[in-house]
Order: sequence, then structure tokens, then C-alpha cells
Amino acid sequence: MSQKIAIIRGDGIGPEIMDATLHVLDAMKLGLEYVDVDAGMVALEKHGELLPQATMDAIRTHRIALKSPLTTPVGGGFSSINVELRKRFDLYANVRPAISFPNTRSRYDKVDLITVRENTEGAYIGEGQALSEDGETATLTQKVTRRGSDRIVRYAFDLARKVGRRKVTIVHKANILKKLTGLFLETAMEVGERYRDRIEIEDKIVDNCAMQLVLNPWQFDVILTTNLFGDILSDEIAGLVGGLGMAPGGNIGKEAAIFEAVHGSAPDIAGKGMANPTALLLASAMMLDHVGDTERATRLREVLHQTMVVDGIRTRDLGGEASTDAFAQ
Ligand code: NAD
Repeated sequence: MSQKIAIIRGDGIGPEIMDATLHVLDAMKLGLEYVDVDAGMVALEKHGELLPQATMDAIRTHRIALKSPLTTPVGGGFSSINVELRKRFDLYANVRPAISFPNTRSRYDKVDLITVRENTEGAYIGEGQALSEDGETATLTQKVTRRGSDRIVRYAFDLARKVGRRKVTIVHKANILKKLTGLFLETAMEVGERYRDRIEIEDKIVDNCAMQLVLNPWQFDVILTTNLFGDILSDEIAGLVGGLGMAPGGNIGKEAAIFEAVHGSAPDIAGKGMANPTALLLASAMMLDHVGDTERATRLREVLHQTMVVDGIRTRDLGGEASTDAFAQ
């Protein structure tokens, strides 16, 4: 494989977990070429802006980026650089697999599920957010479109079929938000009909789903939902399998795909050599799947299993003592 990828080292623990990740990817001799670009606080310091044009150009040209967490400064400008990247590249599918590894701090064994979240619509994007002049009333516009729903639903069902999943659960709040998430549910049911021969389809109201995940996470396979519900449920699911240090994510669109660790820049442990690089490594495996190298994506997941479960080498967040570097070695 000869593939150029944009590398964003990010802020806080970002450079540490990226070094560890690239160390492992290099050892796998994947033939990847890295194009280093900046975003976040480091970009602000070096180039005077959080998201420089050169970074946008590199993602547009190479179409694939591996990204460490970014710190968004509190105050003016973007509400989040991550949201801005999703918007600019129309990265409409947010995919978050969650697998429990034994011998970690996973609360449940044998969890293996994927959340597919619509990434460009709904309350999460904060459209039309305003506070009245007297400071007493906050408002927001929530928009769900048939087109936006249609493309994420297709994405989820196609993914489920491609990776051999048996069930898709559509998560909504159409009992109350009858129009808003009702449109999403209706579209998902319509599109899902075409996949029913191979995939079981069910729907669940989001609050019930949140409870069912804790009671019996094994009943789920692929969860398909809207932006804000997906944001919350996927962190809950990360909690089921050992926390954010184990949670990778992919933001995928037609023009580009950005793979990342779901966690933030962890300023409390930055520079201490104790960050867990597993989420970024699992995100790299998603990236390999995305470019069609499923064999080595699987190999990378096996390597992580071998390291944590068989050899018992774990970082502190998982109850071990290994440094970031020792784990990568
Ligand atoms: P965080 O995820 O950075 O940290 C929460 C807790 O989890 C901390 O105790 C941290 O030490 C721990 N943690 C996180 N990742 C870890 C890892 N790989 N290994 C070991 N421990 C880990 O959340 P936060 O403190 O709320 O946010 C810090 C900054 O990150 C904020 O500026 C926020 O905006 C940003 N952020 C960025 C992203 C992203 O770029 N994708 C996501 C979330 C938050």
C-alpha cells in the first residue's frame, strides 16, 4: 500500500499518543507516508489560527487524516475545531466501534458494538444558538433533513452488511419529538426495508436504550442514531468497555475521512508519559479498514489484544503500570 495521510499531532497528550501510534504503524511496514499538519492550540501558536489553510488543503488532497485530540480555547471563534472539520468536509458519518478487552477495566466482557451517528445535523451543531438580550432565554434551531437521514441510514446498513453484523437498532425520541426525530425514524425504517433480508431491524427510544445498554449491552450490534443522542450514547458505551482511552472514532464523508481517539487532550496527564494510546491505535485500525486493508486492520487489533490481554501490558488508566512508550514498544 502506498498512501499519504495527513497527521495532526494535536494538543496535550496528542503528540505522545501519536508518536506511540506511528511507532506501531511503522513496525507494521504499511507503506504509509505521513504529511504533518497542525490544528488546535499548537496551530494557533505557530500560525496564528486554529485551523490553518495548509491543514485543510492536506486533508482535501490526501482525503485521509489521523488526528490526535485538540484543545479548543474557551471564548470566541469556533465552538469546536472538531465540529468545524466535520462541517467543512461534510463528514456526515460518525462511526464508533466499542470492543471490550479482558484484563482491562472493561465493565462487561464480550461487548462488541458499533455506534453510527449522524454528524452534521440536529441540536449538536448548535445552529441558531442565541441568548436573549436580557439573558433570560436561550434558543436553538434543530434541523433534521430527509436527505441527511437517508445518507446516514444507508451508510449504517451498508456498513452492517459489509462487516457481517446481524442487527441495526434505530435510536430516536419520536414519541415526543414526533416531527424531528420522527423524520429520522421514518426514513430509517423505509431505507432499512431494503436490507431486511439479511439484517434484523428494531427501534428504541433513546432513554430506554441508555438503560438497556447498562442492563444488557450484548443485545445490541449496530446502533444508528442522530447527532446529539449518538454523542451521549457513544460515551456511555465507551464507559461499558473501559473508558475513553479505549474508544476510537471515524468521521467519514465523500470527500475525506478523519480518524481519531474519542477522548480529549487530557491536560492533567500531558507530558507525563502515562497516556493510553489504544484509542488512537484502534482508530488507525479503522483507517486501515477504510482503505481496504482489512487484513492488517485485524492484525493491529490482534496486536492490541496480545499486548493487553495475553502479555498483561497496560497503561495506568487500565490498571497497569506501563508508560505510553513501553506500551507501544
Ligand atoms: P479528556 O478526555 O481530555 O479527559 C478526561 C479524563 O480522561 C482525564 O482525567 C484524562 O486524564 C483521562 N484521559 C483521556 N484520555 C486518556 C488517555 N488516552 N489515557 C489516559 N487517560 C486519559 O476530557 P476533558 O478534560 O473534558 O477535555 C480536555 C480538552 O480536550 C478540552 O479542551 C476539550 O475541548 C478537548 N477535547 C477534544 C476532543 C477531540 O479533539 N476529539 C474531544 C473531547 C475533548
